[in-house]
Amino acid sequence: MILTKYITKGSVLSQMTATNKADALKELTHLLFEKKKMESAGPALDQVLAREVTESTGIGNGIAVPHARVTGMKSLACAVGRIPEGLDFMAVDRRPVHLIFLICYPPTEQTTYLNFVATVAKLLGDDDHLQGMLAAADADDMYRILEEISETFTEHHEQSVKKLRADPALDKVGDGHADLILLARLQLCQEMLATTRSGKGQIKQRIDSIRALVEPRILKHYDKLMKSRPPALVPVEGDTCQGCFMRLSSKFVQQVRQDPEHIHTCTNCSRFIYVV
Ligand SMILES: [Zn+2]
Repeated sequence: MILTKYITKGSVLSQMTATNKADALKELTHLLFEKKKMESAGPALDQVLAREVTESTGIGNGIAVPHARVTGMKSLACAVGRIPEGLDFMAVDRRPVHLIFLICYPPTEQTTYLNFVATVAKLLGDDDHLQGMLAAADADDMYRILEEISETFTEHHEQSVKKLRADPALDKVGDGHADLILLARLQLCQEMLATTRSGKGQIKQRIDSIRALVEPRILKHYDKLMKSRPPALVPVEGDTCQGCFMRLSSKFVQQVRQDPEHIHTCTNCSRFIYVV
């Protein structure tokens, strides 16, 4: 996924001076409103702040991904803020946050949102990328780096997908099943746990709290997959399962796409799937 498809140059702040989390979130939400990405800033900000109360979106490594689902938006939009001084975000690894990716998305783009967050975590999980963003001269430079690392990543890992992404119809995916969202979070936490050096205890706690919410039957299958052939949850892109890379029948993929009320698995490898 090319992150800068969802970020405009004017929505990047290189020198945020907010001294607390609420002020920083307010500034970034208002920025998206000023750039005409949403009709009003209030409802989005309320959601962003409420979310932070129940669970910090500081995913570790100095990065936070606050988010809100906003009706009436045309497509997902993200504002990026850099805080050179760092901000206490109650992040999973307790480290101060230096980069905030504030994401607002329409209800129809839940899957795009999941992809976006996963891509942010993957790209900025690379220390060279992260240091590049922190050392960038200004907002333009930050934007250029985001564009560059997104493209390099895409070229190397998603070459086949790139062509498919040109089809705008692929972005029009339905809202996901609640358990699917939980599994995506669970998988992200497990990936973090495997790569992070600090804050493991916090991540383990979060994993436990997510696990408690997932239906036992689904959790059992998820655990089996994670043990035998991770990842357990994969996208289907252009009718191809990105777990086993087998082409699924168009009819089946269409059924999955049209039935967001249920959780679906690949007919070949049995991994949990979502259609992008
Ligand atoms: Zn498969």
